[in-house]
Amino acid sequence: MRLARFDGGRLGVVMGEEIADITALCGVDPQEWPAVGMVRLIRDFDALKGKIEAALPDLPRLPLSAVRLETPVAWPNKVIAYPVNYHAHGREMQATYRATNQGFFLKPNSALSGPADPVVLPAVPGREVHHESELAIIIGKECRAVAREDWQDVVFGYACLLDMVVRGREERVFRKAYDSFCPVGPWIVTADAVPDPAALDMKLWVNDELRQSANTRDLVLDIPGMVATASAVMTLYPGDIIATGTPEGVGPVVDGDRIRIVIDHVGEMTVDVVQGTLGMTEVFADAYVPPIIKQN
Ligand code: MN
Repeated sequence: MRLARFDGGRLGVVMGEEIADITALCGVDPQEWPAVGMVRLIRDFDALKGKIEAALPDLPRLPLSAVRLETPVAWPNKVIAYPVNYHAHGREMQATYRATNQGFFLKPNSALSGPADPVVLPAVPGREVHHESELAIIIGKECRAVAREDWQDVVFGYACLLDMVVRGREERVFRKAYDSFCPVGPWIVTADAVPDPAALDMKLWVNDELRQSANTRDLVLDIPGMVATASAVMTLYPGDIIATGTPEGVGPVVDGDRIRIVIDHVGEMTVDVVQGTLGMTEVFADAYVPPIIKQN
């Protein structure tokens, strides 16, 4: 099942080129603050799934092209992200560490944006903002200390994710925290619809240029390992998002670019890049261009 948020906090099931509105069925007030309707749907999904499936044939549908898709989980408890989780990306960044001996970092929920929202570049002269194409894991159950072999019990689904970053040597979270630096979408595909998340092709284009092309089989810390590692430290909650790391091919985006990410069995989304006026701080006073090693 493909679960989406759209048109101001409504919930829907995407079916082909249409979306069925399940907002009322799920008892969600689209205007609620904070916007936790999807988090509650994920928590209650085992109980609601049959009700949704039974109602689907009779629910009102809209063409997907007529709605504005929003980031599927707007208010998760947290967004967890694994750095340097593909060896080839580690080599291009000349990083000596990997996710297996570094652990994770967190991105703020306020960085989340959706498929119809632009990435807004901060006004940081002398710095590059890079795209990182990533598979997002959406957690389905409250859990702690999940054993590797039990990972499937707590994974609800998957989505496309862009981990945007100002390149530099400063604190990683600082450079990855800007508003709109975590586009997620276009929807959540439930885990039963993804035959093998450890064998997914993932591609990213900037305009017509293919920048990143990889398969999740090359993850250094695999999906069971990411769930085990995060839940060893913290309680995970329904709706929590894990950004699984980027493969090689990261690079800069500028005003007017369009970033397109495609992940097999998950979906695709295209987001515009626009130059903003906010975001300069003394932290970024010195210019920096990353010494990325191109490998092909
Ligand atoms: Mn990343």
